[in-house]
Amino acid sequence: MLKDIGKTLIGLWSLIIGLKITGKEFFKPWLTVHYPRQEVKNLNTYRGHIELTGQETDPWKPKCVMCGKCAEICPSGCIHIEFHIAGEDDSSQTEKILIGVGVEIPFSGKKFVPAAKIERELDIFNLNYNLCSLCGLCVQNCPVDAIKFSKDVYLAGRSRQDFEYDLLARLKGQG
Ligand code: SF4
Ligand code: SF4
Repeated sequence: MLKDIGKTLIGLWSLIIGLKITGKEFFKPWLTVHYPRQEVKNLNTYRGHIELTGQETDPWKPKCVMCGKCAEICPSGCIHIEFHIAGEDDSSQTEKILIGVGVEIPFSGKKFVPAAKIERELDIFNLNYNLCSLCGLCVQNCPVDAIKFSKDVYLAGRSRQDFEYDLLARLKGQG
């Protein structure tokens, strides 16, 4: 009999302790939001998929100098860049040289012009976000800060193709 009363008292005590913790947590501010009725606001440090940045003088034109570094360094091979030498044929017709895994640079006919002086025009800058591990190597290694992490947090799609982004079109507000 005494044993049963002791067990009940221990049970009641543990219930009181549990309710005390629940009561304390119940009145603390919420850390989650009622999506989709509410959205998260503190996204300053959020790392979304990468995005191209525009030039200060012309925000629709990418800062990218087409060095190919980001595509070369990406461990997942999710960046695809194509460009052509200004004044020459488009990228589909220009002769190319391979500078890294899957990274081709157009070979200019202007052989005697220093590489830095050859004007390039960006044709394609695609990201396959399905493969991206958000390691940040591309952003860290871009010599001109031409890419940044987006704050695109609410992503949804019906297929993998929905996460293959044309970053050039997005910069121009078309993607
Ligand atoms: S964050 Fe990493 S995995 Fe994603 S595109 Fe950049 S280099 Fe590739
Ligand atoms: S590293 Fe920067 S400048 Fe070079 S191709 Fe990538 S985005 Fe363009």
